[in-house]
Amino acid sequence: MSRTWNFAAGPAAMPEEVLLQAQTELLEWRDARASVMEISHRGKAFMALTAEIEADLRALAAIPAHYKVLFLQGGATLQFALLAMNLAAPGQRADYVLSGHWSEKAAREAAPYVEVQMAADARASNYTALPPRADWQLDAQSAYVHYTPNETIHGLEFPDIPEVGSVPLVADFSSSILSAPLDVARYGMIYAGAQKNIGPSGLTLLIVREDLLARATRPMASIFRYAEHAVHESMLNTPNTFGWYLAGLTFKWIARHGGLAAMAARNRRKADTLYAAIDGSGGFYRNPVEPRARSRMNVPFFLHDAALDARFLAGAEQAGLLALKGHRALGGMRASLYNAMPQQGVDALVAFMSEFQRGHG
Ligand SMILES: *Cc1c(COP(=O)(O)O)cnc(C)c1O
Repeated sequence: MSRTWNFAAGPAAMPEEVLLQAQTELLEWRDARASVMEISHRGKAFMALTAEIEADLRALAAIPAHYKVLFLQGGATLQFALLAMNLAAPGQRADYVLSGHWSEKAAREAAPYVEVQMAADARASNYTALPPRADWQLDAQSAYVHYTPNETIHGLEFPDIPEVGSVPLVADFSSSILSAPLDVARYGMIYAGAQKNIGPSGLTLLIVREDLLARATRPMASIFRYAEHAVHESMLNTPNTFGWYLAGLTFKWIARHGGLAAMAARNRRKADTLYAAIDGSGGFYRNPVEPRARSRMNVPFFLHDAALDARFLAGAEQAGLLALKGHRALGGMRASLYNAMPQQGVDALVAFMSEFQRGHG
């Protein structure tokens, strides 16, 4: 078998134990005498599975009872628009914090539905620093404050949850959900595409405070309406049943391996290993992000001479280190270190980096 260390940003590596279990259960799931993909989403067996998955997630992330959990489709990108349609009345304002590519996109996609205000903006730093909380211009009349706790492309992560008063805080957690304990009660809504830390693409997780569901007053199709999805327990239409099932296996995998606190410790150690290698390379490798804002999940890094990039990537592939090419907007390299990446994979990357430097330094 040639399966190896996969540093892809998303769709990303999934835990091998999860894939093996899915493989074992692929033809016959539990006593369904069919695959989990081939049974009715409204049948007793699948309904019981989704209840179990929600209970597992609620236990894992300590989700308070007054929050709804939804499993939807359309990715985080659909939520950029839907959250504005659902959480703001027409003509209302919302505050956006710009810290990189994804928060910019979230603001742009919301603009047709809400009056977007830039509460803070780190563009001047080329997104290598976070906008200091003291400089944010928050509007107490805003429908919500939106931010992106982890910027997947620029490699920035907020070290703590910003305090925004009583206006609901809405967070795009696509690339850091379940990587550490989650203080759900600090948020109005959390959303995340599944394909980084939860499972395959095609599934989107929403955790939304129940009272916010009543906010959507503008006319819209029921498929756009959070309250409608909540009433129908994420089965307004045919859900991504296989993705939902795989997310459930991943939640059990996280619990089996110590829960979110254990994930946080593992992720901290992996990121520390890689940043230490970059910073200790005497400038051969470089990460431009200010230390307090460095992401634990996505580590962009650059070789001192971009002419070496192609050779680095080819050598890495040969050494069994996949998908290290940086996002096209930034170039260079990017290593994504989601929950499913073990310390061993990071150790292998760091060993390769050091060997490559010896050969080309
Ligand atoms: C990957 C990613 C997205 C885009 O997700 P889709 O599921 O492709 O819509 C949005 N936000 C963040 C932070 C991401 O990492």
